[in-house]
Amino acid sequence: MSTYVYDFIEGDRSRADLLGGKGANLAEMTRLGLPVPPGFTVSTEACRAYLADGRPPAGLFDEVNGHLREIEIRLGRRFGDPHDPLLLAVRSGGRYSMPGMMETILDIGLNDATVAGLAAQSGDERFAWDSYRRLIQMFGRTVYGVPADEFERELAALRATTGPAGPDAEQLRGLVGTYKKVFAAQVGHDFPQAPHEQLYLAIRAVFESWNAERAVLYRRREHIPDDLGTAVNVMAMVFGNLGPDSGTGVAFTRDPATGAPGVYGDYLPDAQGEDVVAGIRNTVGLAELERIDPASFRQLTEIMATLERHYRDLCDVEFTIERGKLWMLQTRVGKRTPAAAFVIAAQLVDEGLIGLDEALHRVTAGQLAQLMFPAFDLAAAPEPLATAVGASPGAAVGRVVFDSAAAAAATEPVILVRRETNPDDLPGMIAARGVLTSRGGKTSHAAVVARGMGRTCVCGAEALRIDPERGEFTVGDRVVRAGELISIDGTTGRVFPGEVPVQPSPVARYLAGELKPEADRLVAAVHRLLSHADAVRRLGVRANADTPADAERARRFGASGIGLCRTEHMFLGDRRELVERLILADDPDRLAEALAALLPLQRADIEGILAAMDGLPVTIRLIDPPLHEFLPPLAELTARVARAEALGEDPGRDGLLLTAVRRMHEANPMLGLRGVRLGLVVPGLFGMQVRAIAEATAQRVAAGGDPRPEIMVPLVADVRELAAVRAEVEAVLATVPGAPPIPVGTMVETPRAALTAGDIAAEAHFFSFGTNDLTQTTWAFSRDDVEGSFFSGYLERGIFAVSPFETIDATGVGRLIRLAVAEGRATRPELTVGVCGEHGGDPDSVAFFADAGLDYVSCSPYRVPVARLAAGRAAV
Ligand code: PEP
Ligand code: MG
Repeated sequence: MSTYVYDFIEGDRSRADLLGGKGANLAEMTRLGLPVPPGFTVSTEACRAYLADGRPPAGLFDEVNGHLREIEIRLGRRFGDPHDPLLLAVRSGGRYSMPGMMETILDIGLNDATVAGLAAQSGDERFAWDSYRRLIQMFGRTVYGVPADEFERELAALRATTGPAGPDAEQLRGLVGTYKKVFAAQVGHDFPQAPHEQLYLAIRAVFESWNAERAVLYRRREHIPDDLGTAVNVMAMVFGNLGPDSGTGVAFTRDPATGAPGVYGDYLPDAQGEDVVAGIRNTVGLAELERIDPASFRQLTEIMATLERHYRDLCDVEFTIERGKLWMLQTRVGKRTPAAAFVIAAQLVDEGLIGLDEALHRVTAGQLAQLMFPAFDLAAAPEPLATAVGASPGAAVGRVVFDSAAAAAATEPVILVRRETNPDDLPGMIAARGVLTSRGGKTSHAAVVARGMGRTCVCGAEALRIDPERGEFTVGDRVVRAGELISIDGTTGRVFPGEVPVQPSPVARYLAGELKPEADRLVAAVHRLLSHADAVRRLGVRANADTPADAERARRFGASGIGLCRTEHMFLGDRRELVERLILADDPDRLAEALAALLPLQRADIEGILAAMDGLPVTIRLIDPPLHEFLPPLAELTARVARAEALGEDPGRDGLLLTAVRRMHEANPMLGLRGVRLGLVVPGLFGMQVRAIAEATAQRVAAGGDPRPEIMVPLVADVRELAAVRAEVEAVLATVPGAPPIPVGTMVETPRAALTAGDIAAEAHFFSFGTNDLTQTTWAFSRDDVEGSFFSGYLERGIFAVSPFETIDATGVGRLIRLAVAEGRATRPELTVGVCGEHGGDPDSVAFFADAGLDYVSCSPYRVPVARLAAGRAAV
């Protein structure tokens, strides 16, 4: 027969799977000899069996009775004894803490007979009747789902008739009678008087609470598996509500908000634990407990020190003092803010409790990301106008503008509000403090570009009706006009009216070199852990950067090169006209002329970036997007031409452009004429870019620099494509005097490239996984559309826990990556392999890339510190 029930003296903290977190820690405290009331834990295995069969597993309650007898013997009290009753507390506790989902029933064992015993034992009749009425209420709610209001109403009615002292014993006895009537009316039978029946029903109710709607929702959000089940902890009751020498509290071994050393907590005299949670009365600080009961305070602080040394981490505890005697009801490694996580990890290293490797596991790269962004002071924030997708973190305040030109021209901080953004909005996005869109998700243009720039962005705010013509947006019946102030929170996706105060981030200032590591405790801790991550990581961290300014920033943030420089960004702005000329060129001479006009501009851009990254590798990708993306949209051109024609005017250049856009129109441009295909179809285009790179390099060499460019070819699917481009590259390089040899590599961003990586490596000096396109093409998910469309449904249904555009799909896309790494290196053992898709800055993905044996990840400059930390964590 299986064993389902474990006494606290049998377990320990390593058995949290079986005993739940709370049960395992109660057992651990018991083993440490701390004052824990005697009790036992019904295992998660029993819960799983119950949920599978709809009834308790055979023999469960016999085991419960056996353990209960042990407690009775130890305490010299019997459960159900009318003279001196043992009472029990029943609490749920799964493997992972699910705050607010917990079911608790106190005072089990009270009935019409034992209530008198409790009164005699405690010498407090009022307390005994109050405990009984609490039991009926909690039991009714938890076991039978009786709405709390049904009881609260009666209690409030009674309180209204009594003075500030509250109801006396007699009145409470009357209230118990009323509660019993409410119970019977709601449940259909009387309140169960048999103590054992109460206990069995309570255990079953806790089992069933595992599948309560709110618990299921919570698990889904926190990615906790549904099949773990909860344990049930049954413990002898101790009372904090027996007068002024009793009380209850919660405490932390250090401040969980800042990490500051020293115990920190709240205490409520003459109360039970649930009163603290319910917030009926104001708690006092632990200093007050020191004054009221110095002996208990001293014992508590000693116990907390023991726990911290034992767990080697911040712990939180729940305790009760019953007539001057301290009891520990719970402990666990406590939750903390990101700032506290760093500060505490560094302190524990100083105190010799943990080493630096372990300290890296006490923080997450996601926490570092949170620390880098300025944050709103939420206490000062009004009700949000809308909540949407937090696409690029940060807190931005500015005046509403609806077009990019206005944003670029603004002299005051602005928020660019658009239905969606396109490459034309770039100047506006650069100028704005933040970007707010009503369409698109985390991989929409607005989101990707904003993240790349470290610009705050909230997207997909569908509640907003944006009307740029009228210069306003509406949410419900609220109208916000151009020029009004709004505040957007790119972490939570909230949009606030007006100006919410912002707190700057010292961590970001330190990372950007503006603050010294010793600036404050938090900055010092971040410095220490990040330095250790750098020392241990095997994965290099480069940045995706397209401008000298971005390159410089990336370098300050610790990038060891550029893993992706997207040259198409050099075709924007006032260079568009040159691109138009290129597209409209109808003979080789004009084409050559158009390319020649672009050459010096590209060369200057590249020289600037090579200078900013002097001595470090700079991977320059040849142009990728389809050329018509650089022309005005079809609808806009059609309207312009139609207008001109209606007025009897010659549409001129617009007419030519319209013909070109129509000619180049593709139903699926992402699968169309882009990347290497474009380079092979438009003669001289790649050649011009390669010349610009070679000449810029030669100039840097001549100027005494140490340029290290690498040329990368996008969207390759077949080795012959790469071979053809390489031949062209080498031919061009041979004509540029003073240029050193430049490695040529390829992006691996189509499944076919991954599958034929062994062949492709014969022509490639390096690989860089373009995981945005590789995810798109492997899943057949349009990266521009899905997030605003069916992804939320997929996430809700648990088809995936997180978007595969955010965290690499290790099973599918990851398999292609592993295969390409292995086969590529089989052909060319010295092949350098990196990744430059958005995943390069995602901590979970970084761990995968480390495991897959990549040489580096490349991500936006602002993610560089995050990737450094994630890479360090992956190495220890
Ligand atoms: C990619 O596809 O992952 C990539 C880095 O290229 P882009 O995002 O420019 O298509
Ligand atoms: Mg790509």
